[in-house]
Amino acid sequence: MVLLTRLRVGLDGDGVVLDGAEAKSRASRILFGIDIPPRFAKRELLVREGIITSKQYDAIKDFAYKVREQALTFQFVPGAREHIDRMLRDGWFVPVISSRPEVAARHIVELFQLHGWDIPVLSNGMSKDKTAIVRDLGGLDVYVDDSIEALQCLVGVVPRLYLFDQPYNRDEDPGDIAVRVYSWQEFYSLLLP
Ligand SMILES: [Mg+2]
Repeated sequence: MVLLTRLRVGLDGDGVVLDGAEAKSRASRILFGIDIPPRFAKRELLVREGIITSKQYDAIKDFAYKVREQALTFQFVPGAREHIDRMLRDGWFVPVISSRPEVAARHIVELFQLHGWDIPVLSNGMSKDKTAIVRDLGGLDVYVDDSIEALQCLVGVVPRLYLFDQPYNRDEDPGDIAVRVYSWQEFYSLLLP
């Protein structure tokens, strides 16, 4: 019998498990009639490109993340559900560490429950630095995020860091900070011994 190591794999929420870009684009269409192209689905890029204003972005995020009915319509990133199911079956510890505000993070818990998951969801109160939460959890073997800034903070804290590829982070180079992964399939295969 092959005994797999029970890894401790920290997951960012939006952009890794849940499709935040799709949800933001949907909210933007409802509120302002404006589509958000996936490759610009980040505040800095949207404002820089003149697609929406920073204030509109706040409204979009409040609507998509904080209004419960909207928050429960988030879609999963392709492959996330199957691979997380497998990790849970194998006894891995897979907490979600989100930089959503507390109220919005609670909607993730509810969404997960609808899918039969009892996964801890920890909110980082909108800060990019997730170090304190990782330490409170007693450390992690692996952490994956779609934000290089968030990963940067965890250098020296979590031994294996992965950047989850998204159209809006494609122009950023993770350098020595993290390894870019292009899908859940690839990410999971890199974790196996
Ligand atoms: Mg994210």
